[in-house]
Amino acid sequence: MKNKKEKIKCPFCGYEMPIERDKNAVCSGLYVRCKARNCKKIFEIRINSEIK
Ligand SMILES: [Zn+2]
Repeated sequence: MKNKKEKIKCPFCGYEMPIERDKNAVCSGLYVRCKARNCKKIFEIRINSEIK
């Protein structure tokens, strides 16, 4: 069982944010602003949020 971390990517431009999640992360309702210069959009980080 490897617990490989994945970077969060902006859904608008694909920029890799300096945020990592592990495979079992669960997240919703968390908003970040994209750090890409031409993007700057705010998006919600949703990970496995359908699992309760
Ligand atoms: Zn972006």
